[in-house]
Amino acid sequence: MLGQMNLFDMGASDNSDSSDLKDDIKSRIEYLKEQINKSNYLYYVEENPYLSDFEYDKLFAELKELEEKYPNLKTLDSPTQRVGSVSEKFFSHTHKYRLYSLDNTYNAEELTKWYERVCKEYNRELELVCELKIDGLAIALTYDKGLFTLGVTRGDGITGEEITQNLKTIKAIPLKLFEPKTLEVRGEIYMPKSSFEKLNEEALSLGEKVFANPRNAASGSLRQLDSTITAKRDLSMFTYTGIFEDSEDSNIKTHYDGMQYLKKLGFKVNPNIRLVKNIQGAIEYCNEWATKRFDLDYATDGVVIKVNDIAIQKDLGYTARAPKWATAFKFPPEEVSTKLLEIELNTGKTGIVTPVAVLEPVQLAGSVVSRASLHNFDEIKRLDIRIGDTVLVKKAAEIIPKVVKVMDSEIHNSLPEYKIPNTCPACGAPLVEKEGEVGLYCTNSGCSQLMCAKIEYWVSKEAMDIDFVGPSLIQQLYDKKFISNPVDLYRLTQEDLMKLDLIKEKSASNIYNSIQKSKTRPLNRLLTALGIRHVGKETADILSGEFTSLDELMQAQIERLSNIEGIGEIIAKSIYDYFHDENNLQLLADLKSVGIDPVSESIQKSDKLAGKTFVLTGTLKNMTRDEASSIIKSHGGKTSSSVSKKTSYVLAGENAGSKLDKAKDLGVIILTENDFLEMIR
Ligand code: NAD
Repeated sequence: MLGQMNLFDMGASDNSDSSDLKDDIKSRIEYLKEQINKSNYLYYVEENPYLSDFEYDKLFAELKELEEKYPNLKTLDSPTQRVGSVSEKFFSHTHKYRLYSLDNTYNAEELTKWYERVCKEYNRELELVCELKIDGLAIALTYDKGLFTLGVTRGDGITGEEITQNLKTIKAIPLKLFEPKTLEVRGEIYMPKSSFEKLNEEALSLGEKVFANPRNAASGSLRQLDSTITAKRDLSMFTYTGIFEDSEDSNIKTHYDGMQYLKKLGFKVNPNIRLVKNIQGAIEYCNEWATKRFDLDYATDGVVIKVNDIAIQKDLGYTARAPKWATAFKFPPEEVSTKLLEIELNTGKTGIVTPVAVLEPVQLAGSVVSRASLHNFDEIKRLDIRIGDTVLVKKAAEIIPKVVKVMDSEIHNSLPEYKIPNTCPACGAPLVEKEGEVGLYCTNSGCSQLMCAKIEYWVSKEAMDIDFVGPSLIQQLYDKKFISNPVDLYRLTQEDLMKLDLIKEKSASNIYNSIQKSKTRPLNRLLTALGIRHVGKETADILSGEFTSLDELMQAQIERLSNIEGIGEIIAKSIYDYFHDENNLQLLADLKSVGIDPVSESIQKSDKLAGKTFVLTGTLKNMTRDEASSIIKSHGGKTSSSVSKKTSYVLAGENAGSKLDKAKDLGVIILTENDFLEMIR
C-alpha cells in the first residue's frame, strides 16, 4: 500500500517499462477502489461516513486520473463507473430512466475547462442554468395523469429503494398536480438546518444518537420502515428536473422553461435558479452564493451548472456515471478530518469549564482551523473522544468549528479514555455540577480566569463596547494587579496604563478615553454587560424598554418582571435574585461611584407602531439593524428574532436570507427600508 503518496510525483507514465512502477500503480488503484467502496457503503447504506466529503472527493479524483492515464487498469466494477449504493432495507425498484451523479469541480479554472470542452463542439457560447446544489438525497417521483404513484431513492442509479409511503408524508411533494400530467421528476429531499438542530437537541436530551449533518438526518428520517416516524420529521424537497411524457409537453425546449413549468404544476422549485449567458455568469453565481448560502435554512454544498438547451443536453449525453452537460461546482469543504492533539480547558464568565479541541491545523471552509468546540464533557464521553483520535470537524456560517465525531481508526482503542477533570484548570478549586445545567462549574467566585472572562465580556461589542481593550491587555492588567473586576477599569489612570508592556503615551490615552467614553452607555448595554443569568442582549433590550433607570429595575418584584412579554418566570426570578445579592449590590454601588448610572435609551417618540412586531433581516442602507430596532421601540413597536404568523412586518435589507423566505411563505408583509422610513415619518 502506498498510503497517501501521489504517484504523479513519481513521474509515472504509460510508456514506463518498469514493472515495479506498474505494480505500485495497480496496488494504488486497488487501494483507492477499496477505500471508495467502503466509504460508499458507510455513506449511503450505514449513513455513518468515515471520511469527510472533501477527502472522499480527493481519493475519487485520484482514481479517475489514474484510470484515465492507465486505461487498461480500469475495470467495470470501479466506483468511477457507478453511482451510489442500494441497501436491502426496502423493496428495490428498477428506475424507468437512469439516475446519474454529477462530476465535480472545486475552482473557476476547472469550471471554465468544462465549459470550453462542452462549447467546442458547437463553436459558440452556450446558455447555462445555475442552481444551488442542495445537500440532501435524490429521489425520483412518478406521476400518472397528475397523481403521485411512486417514489424511489436514487440508489445505484439503476435500482433504488421504493419509499412511496414515506414520501407521501412530505408536504412539499404534491400528491396531485394542478394538471393531469404524466411525468417523472427528480428532486432533493432535505431537512431545514433549524429542524436538524432541534432534532439533535431532542436526541441529546434523550441520550439518543445524533445525526452528523442535515443530509444524514434527512436520509435517516426518510429511510424509516415506519412512515409515522418520517411524518414527524420536518422534511422538504426541491425539484430540480422533470422528464415529461405527454406529447404536448415536447415543446419545452430548455431546462429553464422546464423548471418554470414544474413550478406551475405545483412543485417546489428553488427560487435562486438563474439563467446565465456563459461561464462568466456561472462563476459570478458561484462566488455570490459561496457566502450568501449561510443565510439559507437548508444546507448547500455547491452549485449545479447545466446546459440550458435540452437538444444539446441530449447530444452531449452521459459518461458511465454523470451527464456531460452538467457539472457541480463544490464549495470549499465545511467538514474535514484532522488529529486531536490536546483538550484545553477554559473557565468562562459563569464559572463553567469548557473543553476546547486543539487540532492539527487544517483547511476548512476557506480558513485554517486549529481549535474547535467540544461542547461539554458529556459530549466527549458520548462520542468517546480521545486525545490522538482523528476527528471530523465541521464549520457552518460564522459559527465556531465543532468536533462532530471520531473517525473510525485502528488506533482509537489503544488510546487512553479521556479523564474528566475534577478541579478548575485555572485556580484548582473543585468543580461541581449545577442542578438542571449541563457542565462543570468552578466553585471559586474569585477564580482568575473566570474574572478575566467576565471583564472580556464587559468590554465586548455587544456589552459596553470598549475599543482597544482585548483579552491580552485584560490578562496583563489582571496579572499586574491593576484590575480585579470590571469597575477597576474605570479607576485606571493613563500613568497606570503606561506601566504595561508595549503601551506608550498614545495608546494609553486611547485606552483611557475609550474606557471613560463607555460610562455613558445606555441601560440595555449595562444590563448585557452585567452577565445576569438568562439575560443576554435581547432580554436586556426588553428590560430597557420597560424600565427607565437601573434603580427602577432594581426595585421590581418578580410578578412585575414576569408580566413583561418575553420574560418568563425563570428569567424574572434570576433578575430578581441578581438584584438581591449583596456582592452584586456592592458592584452596582461601585459602578455608581465611578459614574456609571445609565438610563434607558428609548425615549418614546410616538405610538405609531404600537402593537406591531417587526423582524429585521439583511443589510440596511441608512442604518444598522440595532438602530432600526431602537427606532421601532421609540415608536411603540417591538422586535423579534424569528418570523411567525404573529409577525406584523419583516423589514428586509440587502442579501436578506431565510427570514425573508419564511415571511413570503407565511404571507407576512415585507417592508423595504423606504417603506419603513415612510411609516414613521
Ligand atoms: P453529488 O451529491 O456530488 O452530486 C449529485 C447529486 O446532487 C444528485 O444525485 C442530486 O441528488 C444532487 N443535487 C442537488 N441539487 C441538485 C440540482 N439542483 N440539480 C441536480 N442535482 C442536484 O453526487 P453523489 O453521487 O450523490 O455523491 C457523491 C458525493 O457524495 C461525493 O462527491 C462526496 O462528496 C459524497 N460522498 C461522501 C462519502 C464519504 O465517505 N464522505 C462517500 C460517498 C459519497
